[in-house]
Amino acid sequence: MYNRVRKGVLLLLCAAMVAAAMPQGSGMGVQQSYADDKSDQLADLNNQYDELEQQQKEIQAQIDQAKNEKDKYLAQKNQLDGQINNTQQQINVLTNRIDLLNSMIAENERKIAELEGIIDKNYEVFRQRVRASYMAGDSSTINLLFGADSFSDFLMKADITARIAENDREIIAALEADMAAVQQLREQNEADKADLQTSQGELNDKKNQLNNQVSQIQDQIQDISELQRQYEANKAEIDQMMLRVQNEINLIYASYESVGEYTGGIMTWPVPNYPNITSYFGWRFNNTDYHTGIDISGANVYGQNIVAAADGVVIKTQQTYTQGVGYGRYLIIDHGGNVSTLYGHTSQLLVSEGEHVTRGQVIAKVGSTGWSTGPHLHFEVRENGKAVNPLNGYLRS
Ligand SMILES: [Zn+2]
Repeated sequence: MYNRVRKGVLLLLCAAMVAAAMPQGSGMGVQQSYADDKSDQLADLNNQYDELEQQQKEIQAQIDQAKNEKDKYLAQKNQLDGQINNTQQQINVLTNRIDLLNSMIAENERKIAELEGIIDKNYEVFRQRVRASYMAGDSSTINLLFGADSFSDFLMKADITARIAENDREIIAALEADMAAVQQLREQNEADKADLQTSQGELNDKKNQLNNQVSQIQDQIQDISELQRQYEANKAEIDQMMLRVQNEINLIYASYESVGEYTGGIMTWPVPNYPNITSYFGWRFNNTDYHTGIDISGANVYGQNIVAAADGVVIKTQQTYTQGVGYGRYLIIDHGGNVSTLYGHTSQLLVSEGEHVTRGQVIAKVGSTGWSTGPHLHFEVRENGKAVNPLNGYLRS
Protein backbone atom coordinates (compact mmCIF):
# COMPACT_ATOMS: atom_id res chain seq x y z
CA MET A 1 0.00 0.00 0.00
CA TYR A 2 2.79 2.38 0.97
CA ASN A 3 4.76 1.62 -2.20
CA ARG A 4 1.70 2.23 -4.30
CA VAL A 5 1.11 5.52 -2.63
CA ARG A 6 4.72 6.57 -3.11
CA LYS A 7 4.50 5.54 -6.72
CA GLY A 8 1.39 7.61 -7.25
CA VAL A 9 3.17 10.55 -5.69
CA LEU A 10 6.15 10.02 -7.94
CA LEU A 11 4.10 9.95 -11.12
CA LEU A 12 2.08 13.02 -10.24
CA LEU A 13 5.17 14.87 -9.13
CA CYS A 14 7.18 13.89 -12.17
CA ALA A 15 4.36 14.78 -14.49
CA ALA A 16 4.32 18.30 -13.12
CA MET A 17 8.09 18.75 -13.05
CA VAL A 18 8.81 17.35 -16.50
CA ALA A 19 6.09 19.49 -17.96
CA ALA A 20 7.54 22.51 -16.18
CA ALA A 21 11.00 21.84 -17.61
CA MET A 22 9.74 21.58 -21.17
CA PRO A 23 10.47 24.63 -23.29
CA GLN A 24 7.68 25.41 -25.70
CA GLY A 25 8.31 24.62 -29.36
CA SER A 26 12.03 24.22 -28.77
CA GLY A 27 12.81 22.17 -31.86
CA MET A 28 11.85 18.85 -30.28
CA GLY A 29 10.26 17.91 -33.60
CA VAL A 30 7.02 16.98 -31.90
CA GLN A 31 5.03 20.02 -32.89
CA GLN A 32 2.94 18.97 -35.83
CA SER A 33 0.39 20.72 -37.89
CA TYR A 34 -2.10 17.94 -38.25
CA ALA A 35 -4.34 16.82 -35.41
CA ASP A 36 -4.52 13.30 -36.94
CA ASP A 37 -0.79 12.69 -36.53
CA LYS A 38 -1.05 13.96 -33.00
CA SER A 39 -3.89 11.63 -32.11
CA ASP A 40 -2.12 8.61 -33.73
CA GLN A 41 0.92 9.38 -31.67
CA LEU A 42 -1.16 9.72 -28.51
CA ALA A 43 -3.00 6.47 -29.26
CA ASP A 44 0.33 4.63 -29.71
CA LEU A 45 1.67 6.02 -26.47
CA ASN A 46 -1.55 5.24 -24.65
CA ASN A 47 -1.34 1.64 -25.84
CA GLN A 48 2.26 1.42 -24.65
CA TYR A 49 1.28 2.94 -21.35
CA ASP A 50 -1.65 0.56 -20.90
CA GLU A 51 0.62 -2.39 -21.58
CA LEU A 52 3.14 -1.13 -19.02
CA GLU A 53 0.38 -0.55 -16.52
CA GLN A 54 -0.69 -4.17 -16.98
CA GLN A 55 2.91 -5.33 -16.50
CA GLN A 56 3.24 -3.16 -13.47
CA LYS A 57 0.06 -4.65 -12.01
CA GLU A 58 1.52 -8.15 -12.47
CA ILE A 59 4.84 -7.15 -10.92
CA GLN A 60 2.98 -5.57 -8.01
CA ALA A 61 1.17 -8.89 -7.47
CA GLN A 62 4.55 -10.66 -7.51
CA ILE A 63 5.97 -8.15 -5.04
CA ASP A 64 2.97 -8.67 -2.74
CA GLN A 65 3.51 -12.42 -2.96
CA ALA A 66 7.24 -12.00 -2.27
CA LYS A 67 6.36 -9.89 0.74
CA ASN A 68 4.04 -12.60 2.04
CA GLU A 69 6.74 -15.21 1.54
CA LYS A 70 9.23 -12.96 3.27
CA ASP A 71 6.88 -12.55 6.24
CA LYS A 72 6.49 -16.32 6.37
CA TYR A 73 10.27 -16.79 6.30
CA LEU A 74 10.71 -14.17 8.99
CA ALA A 75 8.20 -15.99 11.21
CA GLN A 76 10.12 -19.22 10.61
CA LYS A 77 13.37 -17.44 11.35
CA ASN A 78 11.98 -16.10 14.63
CA GLN A 79 10.92 -19.61 15.57
CA LEU A 80 14.36 -20.99 14.67
CA ASP A 81 16.01 -18.18 16.63
CA GLY A 82 13.97 -19.32 19.64
CA GLN A 83 15.11 -22.91 19.08
CA ILE A 84 18.72 -21.80 18.75
CA ASN A 85 18.41 -19.91 22.03
CA ASN A 86 16.98 -23.02 23.64
CA THR A 87 19.73 -25.25 22.31
CA GLN A 88 22.39 -22.78 23.43
CA GLN A 89 20.93 -22.83 26.95
CA GLN A 90 21.00 -26.63 26.99
CA ILE A 91 24.62 -26.52 25.81
CA ASN A 92 25.43 -24.15 28.67
CA VAL A 93 23.79 -26.52 31.21
CA LEU A 94 25.72 -29.51 29.79
CA THR A 95 29.00 -27.59 29.79
CA ASN A 96 28.50 -26.72 33.47
CA ARG A 97 27.73 -30.37 34.23
CA ILE A 98 30.88 -31.53 32.43
CA ASP A 99 32.99 -28.98 34.36
CA LEU A 100 31.49 -30.21 37.65
CA LEU A 101 32.11 -33.89 36.79
CA ASN A 102 35.70 -33.14 35.80
CA SER A 103 36.39 -31.38 39.09
CA MET A 104 34.76 -34.26 41.04
CA ILE A 105 36.96 -36.79 39.22
CA ALA A 106 40.07 -34.69 39.91
CA GLU A 107 39.11 -34.36 43.60
CA ASN A 108 38.57 -38.15 43.90
CA GLU A 109 41.91 -38.84 42.26
CA ARG A 110 43.60 -36.53 44.73
CA LYS A 111 41.87 -38.39 47.64
CA ILE A 112 42.85 -41.79 46.18
CA ALA A 113 46.51 -40.76 45.94
CA GLU A 114 46.39 -39.48 49.53
CA LEU A 115 44.78 -42.72 50.85
CA GLU A 116 47.24 -44.91 48.93
CA GLY A 117 50.11 -42.99 50.54
CA ILE A 118 48.63 -43.63 53.98
CA ILE A 119 48.10 -47.33 53.22
CA ASP A 120 51.69 -47.75 52.01
CA LYS A 121 53.07 -46.05 55.13
CA ASN A 122 50.86 -48.08 57.55
CA TYR A 123 51.63 -51.32 55.80
CA GLU A 124 55.35 -50.69 56.14
CA VAL A 125 54.93 -49.88 59.86
CA PHE A 126 52.85 -53.03 60.28
CA ARG A 127 55.46 -55.20 58.57
CA GLN A 128 58.16 -53.88 60.84
CA ARG A 129 56.03 -54.46 63.94
CA VAL A 130 55.18 -58.00 62.88
CA ARG A 131 58.83 -58.71 62.07
CA ALA A 132 59.85 -57.59 65.56
CA SER A 133 56.99 -59.30 67.45
CA TYR A 134 57.12 -62.63 65.76
CA MET A 135 60.82 -62.97 65.21
CA ALA A 136 61.01 -65.67 67.81
CA GLY A 137 57.63 -67.21 67.14
CA ASP A 138 56.08 -69.39 64.48
CA SER A 139 58.22 -69.06 61.38
CA SER A 140 55.32 -70.02 59.12
CA THR A 141 53.53 -66.71 60.03
CA ILE A 142 56.61 -64.71 59.12
CA ASN A 143 56.99 -66.64 55.93
CA LEU A 144 53.36 -66.02 55.06
CA LEU A 145 53.63 -62.34 55.83
CA PHE A 146 56.78 -61.70 53.87
CA GLY A 147 55.85 -64.08 51.13
CA ALA A 148 52.78 -61.91 50.30
CA ASP A 149 53.18 -59.61 47.25
CA SER A 150 51.09 -56.85 48.78
CA PHE A 151 48.91 -56.09 51.75
CA SER A 152 45.79 -57.28 50.00
CA ASP A 153 47.54 -60.49 49.01
CA PHE A 154 48.44 -60.87 52.73
CA LEU A 155 44.80 -60.31 53.80
CA MET A 156 43.65 -63.03 51.43
CA LYS A 157 45.46 -65.49 53.58
CA ALA A 158 42.65 -65.32 56.16
CA ASP A 159 43.98 -67.77 58.66
CA ILE A 160 46.89 -65.50 59.48
CA THR A 161 44.71 -63.03 61.42
CA ALA A 162 43.95 -65.72 63.96
CA ARG A 163 47.63 -66.00 64.74
CA ILE A 164 48.45 -62.32 65.25
CA ALA A 165 47.92 -60.13 68.24
CA GLU A 166 44.81 -58.01 69.00
CA ASN A 167 46.46 -54.59 68.49
CA ASP A 168 47.84 -55.70 65.15
CA ARG A 169 44.34 -56.67 64.09
CA GLU A 170 43.25 -53.07 64.67
CA ILE A 171 45.95 -51.82 62.31
CA ILE A 172 44.81 -54.36 59.76
CA ALA A 173 41.17 -53.23 60.15
CA ALA A 174 42.19 -49.58 59.61
CA LEU A 175 44.15 -50.56 56.51
CA GLU A 176 41.15 -52.54 55.24
CA ALA A 177 38.86 -49.51 55.73
CA ASP A 178 41.27 -47.26 53.82
CA MET A 179 41.42 -49.82 51.01
CA ALA A 180 37.60 -49.93 50.85
CA ALA A 181 37.45 -46.12 50.71
CA VAL A 182 39.90 -46.10 47.81
CA GLN A 183 37.83 -48.74 46.04
CA GLN A 184 34.68 -46.69 46.54
CA LEU A 185 36.33 -43.53 45.19
CA ARG A 186 37.55 -45.45 42.14
CA GLU A 187 34.01 -46.74 41.47
CA GLN A 188 32.65 -43.21 41.87
CA ASN A 189 35.20 -41.95 39.35
CA GLU A 190 34.23 -44.67 36.88
CA ALA A 191 30.57 -43.65 37.22
CA ASP A 192 31.44 -39.95 36.87
CA LYS A 193 33.53 -40.66 33.77
CA ALA A 194 30.62 -42.56 32.20
CA ASP A 195 28.32 -39.60 32.95
CA LEU A 196 30.91 -37.29 31.50
CA GLN A 197 31.00 -39.24 28.24
CA THR A 198 27.22 -39.20 28.00
CA SER A 199 27.11 -35.46 28.65
CA GLN A 200 29.82 -34.82 26.08
CA GLY A 201 27.92 -36.90 23.52
CA GLU A 202 24.77 -34.90 24.22
CA LEU A 203 26.74 -31.69 24.00
CA ASN A 204 28.14 -32.62 20.58
CA ASP A 205 24.65 -33.51 19.37
CA LYS A 206 23.32 -30.17 20.58
CA LYS A 207 26.18 -28.30 18.94
CA ASN A 208 25.56 -30.07 15.62
CA GLN A 209 21.88 -29.29 15.91
CA LEU A 210 22.68 -25.65 16.59
CA ASN A 211 25.05 -25.43 13.62
CA ASN A 212 22.40 -26.96 11.37
CA GLN A 213 19.83 -24.45 12.55
CA VAL A 214 22.22 -21.57 11.95
CA SER A 215 23.12 -22.68 8.43
CA GLN A 216 19.44 -23.32 7.64
CA ILE A 217 18.60 -19.77 8.63
CA GLN A 218 21.52 -18.42 6.64
CA ASP A 219 20.25 -20.30 3.57
CA GLN A 220 16.77 -18.90 4.06
CA ILE A 221 18.06 -15.37 4.49
CA GLN A 222 20.07 -15.76 1.29
CA ASP A 223 16.98 -17.06 -0.55
CA ILE A 224 14.90 -14.15 0.68
CA SER A 225 17.54 -11.61 -0.28
CA GLU A 226 17.89 -13.13 -3.75
CA LEU A 227 14.10 -13.08 -4.26
CA GLN A 228 13.93 -9.49 -3.11
CA ARG A 229 16.77 -8.46 -5.42
CA GLN A 230 15.00 -10.02 -8.39
CA TYR A 231 11.67 -8.39 -7.66
CA GLU A 232 13.25 -5.04 -7.00
CA ALA A 233 15.17 -5.24 -10.25
CA ASN A 234 11.94 -6.09 -12.12
CA LYS A 235 10.04 -3.32 -10.40
CA ALA A 236 12.75 -0.75 -11.02
CA GLU A 237 12.74 -1.69 -14.71
CA ILE A 238 8.96 -1.34 -15.00
CA ASP A 239 9.01 1.93 -13.03
CA GLN A 240 11.66 3.20 -15.42
CA MET A 241 9.54 2.27 -18.44
CA MET A 242 6.40 3.83 -16.96
CA LEU A 243 8.27 7.01 -16.25
CA ARG A 244 9.55 7.08 -19.83
CA VAL A 245 6.04 6.68 -21.29
CA GLN A 246 4.66 9.20 -18.81
CA ASN A 247 7.35 11.64 -19.92
CA GLU A 248 6.51 11.02 -23.56
CA ILE A 249 2.85 11.74 -22.82
CA ASN A 250 3.94 14.90 -21.08
CA LEU A 251 5.99 15.92 -24.12
CA ILE A 252 2.99 15.46 -26.40
CA TYR A 253 0.85 17.22 -23.85
CA ALA A 254 3.18 20.16 -23.52
CA SER A 255 3.69 20.51 -27.26
CA TYR A 256 0.05 20.11 -28.14
CA GLU A 257 -0.74 22.91 -30.50
CA SER A 258 -3.46 24.75 -28.77
CA VAL A 259 -5.83 26.52 -31.09
CA GLY A 260 -6.28 30.26 -30.67
CA GLU A 261 -6.30 32.13 -27.38
CA TYR A 262 -7.82 31.15 -24.10
CA THR A 263 -11.15 32.95 -23.91
CA GLY A 264 -12.83 30.88 -21.20
CA GLY A 265 -12.39 33.44 -18.41
CA ILE A 266 -13.42 32.16 -15.01
CA MET A 267 -14.21 28.48 -15.43
CA THR A 268 -17.35 26.68 -14.40
CA TRP A 269 -17.11 24.60 -11.23
CA PRO A 270 -16.41 21.02 -12.50
CA VAL A 271 -18.67 19.16 -10.03
CA PRO A 272 -22.02 21.02 -9.81
CA ASN A 273 -23.44 21.26 -6.27
CA TYR A 274 -20.21 19.97 -4.71
CA PRO A 275 -18.28 23.08 -3.66
CA ASN A 276 -15.96 21.43 -1.07
CA ILE A 277 -12.23 21.25 -1.69
CA THR A 278 -10.73 18.41 0.36
CA SER A 279 -7.12 18.93 -0.79
CA TYR A 280 -5.57 22.10 -2.19
CA PHE A 281 -2.88 22.70 -4.81
CA GLY A 282 0.79 22.54 -3.76
CA TRP A 283 2.95 20.68 -1.25
CA ARG A 284 1.13 18.43 1.21
CA PHE A 285 1.74 15.47 3.54
CA ASN A 286 4.77 17.15 5.20
CA ASN A 287 6.18 18.17 1.82
CA THR A 288 6.32 14.57 0.56
CA ASP A 289 3.84 15.11 -2.24
CA TYR A 290 3.36 18.05 -4.60
CA HIS A 291 -0.35 18.11 -5.32
CA THR A 292 -0.78 19.20 -8.94
CA GLY A 293 -4.47 20.04 -8.63
CA ILE A 294 -7.38 20.36 -6.23
CA ASP A 295 -9.59 17.54 -4.91
CA ILE A 296 -13.34 18.10 -4.91
CA SER A 297 -15.56 15.85 -2.82
CA GLY A 298 -18.67 15.63 -0.66
CA ALA A 299 -21.40 13.29 0.58
CA ASN A 300 -22.59 10.79 -2.06
CA VAL A 301 -20.30 12.34 -4.66
CA TYR A 302 -19.60 8.96 -6.29
CA GLY A 303 -21.20 8.82 -9.76
CA GLN A 304 -22.10 12.54 -9.79
CA ASN A 305 -21.65 14.55 -13.00
CA ILE A 306 -18.33 16.08 -13.92
CA VAL A 307 -18.67 18.95 -16.40
CA ALA A 308 -16.23 20.65 -18.77
CA ALA A 309 -14.83 23.72 -17.00
CA ALA A 310 -14.77 25.63 -20.29
CA ASP A 311 -15.22 25.09 -24.06
CA GLY A 312 -12.53 22.95 -25.64
CA VAL A 313 -11.31 19.80 -27.38
CA VAL A 314 -10.74 16.47 -25.62
CA ILE A 315 -7.06 15.71 -26.25
CA LYS A 316 -6.75 12.62 -24.10
CA THR A 317 -8.97 9.96 -22.55
CA GLN A 318 -7.36 7.25 -20.43
CA GLN A 319 -9.73 4.33 -19.88
CA THR A 320 -7.48 1.66 -18.41
CA TYR A 321 -5.65 2.18 -15.16
CA THR A 322 -3.93 0.42 -12.27
CA GLN A 323 -5.81 0.76 -9.01
CA GLY A 324 -3.59 2.60 -6.53
CA VAL A 325 -1.49 4.25 -9.24
CA GLY A 326 -1.68 7.70 -10.83
CA TYR A 327 -4.80 9.49 -12.12
CA GLY A 328 -6.82 6.32 -12.72
CA ARG A 329 -9.43 6.86 -15.45
CA TYR A 330 -8.94 10.44 -16.62
CA LEU A 331 -9.31 12.92 -19.46
CA ILE A 332 -7.70 16.14 -20.60
CA ILE A 333 -9.41 19.03 -22.39
CA ASP A 334 -7.55 21.74 -24.30
CA HIS A 335 -9.17 25.17 -24.02
CA GLY A 336 -6.96 27.12 -26.41
CA GLY A 337 -4.01 29.36 -25.61
CA ASN A 338 -2.17 26.31 -24.17
CA VAL A 339 -4.58 26.17 -21.26
CA SER A 340 -5.90 22.69 -20.47
CA THR A 341 -7.80 20.95 -17.69
CA LEU A 342 -7.42 17.38 -16.38
CA TYR A 343 -10.12 15.36 -14.59
CA GLY A 344 -8.78 12.41 -12.60
CA HIS A 345 -10.03 9.28 -10.72
CA THR A 346 -13.34 9.24 -12.63
CA SER A 347 -15.59 6.18 -12.69
CA GLN A 348 -16.81 6.77 -16.23
CA LEU A 349 -15.72 8.84 -19.23
CA LEU A 350 -18.54 10.14 -21.47
CA VAL A 351 -16.53 11.79 -24.28
CA SER A 352 -13.80 10.65 -26.68
CA GLU A 353 -10.53 12.05 -27.96
CA GLY A 354 -10.93 14.77 -30.59
CA GLU A 355 -14.46 15.62 -29.43
CA HIS A 356 -15.44 19.27 -29.01
CA VAL A 357 -17.05 19.99 -25.64
CA THR A 358 -18.84 23.05 -24.36
CA ARG A 359 -18.64 24.71 -20.96
CA GLY A 360 -20.90 22.85 -18.47
CA GLN A 361 -21.28 19.74 -20.68
CA VAL A 362 -21.27 16.48 -18.71
CA ILE A 363 -18.02 14.72 -19.65
CA ALA A 364 -17.50 12.11 -16.91
CA LYS A 365 -18.70 10.71 -13.56
CA VAL A 366 -16.95 11.04 -10.22
CA GLY A 367 -15.11 7.89 -9.12
CA SER A 368 -12.18 6.61 -7.08
CA THR A 369 -9.89 5.04 -9.70
CA GLY A 370 -6.08 5.12 -9.54
CA TRP A 371 -4.33 6.55 -6.50
CA SER A 372 -7.41 7.57 -4.55
CA THR A 373 -8.52 6.87 -1.01
CA GLY A 374 -12.18 7.74 -1.65
CA PRO A 375 -14.54 9.13 -4.30
CA HIS A 376 -13.43 12.60 -5.47
CA LEU A 377 -12.50 14.59 -8.55
CA HIS A 378 -8.86 15.52 -8.97
CA PHE A 379 -9.01 18.69 -11.08
CA GLU A 380 -5.95 20.24 -12.70
CA VAL A 381 -5.38 23.35 -14.77
CA ARG A 382 -2.21 23.40 -16.88
CA GLU A 383 -0.62 26.30 -18.67
CA ASN A 384 1.80 25.16 -21.37
CA GLY A 385 1.59 21.69 -19.82
CA LYS A 386 2.60 22.95 -16.41
CA ALA A 387 0.16 22.48 -13.52
CA VAL A 388 -0.92 25.76 -11.93
CA ASN A 389 -3.19 26.54 -8.99
CA PRO A 390 -6.74 26.39 -10.38
CA LEU A 391 -7.85 28.90 -7.74
CA ASN A 392 -5.37 31.39 -9.16
CA GLY A 393 -7.59 33.07 -11.77
CA TYR A 394 -9.39 30.04 -13.23
CA LEU A 395 -11.84 28.84 -10.58
CA ARG A 396 -13.75 30.63 -7.86
CA SER A 397 -14.29 28.45 -4.83
ZN1 LIG B 1 -5.79 15.23 -6.22
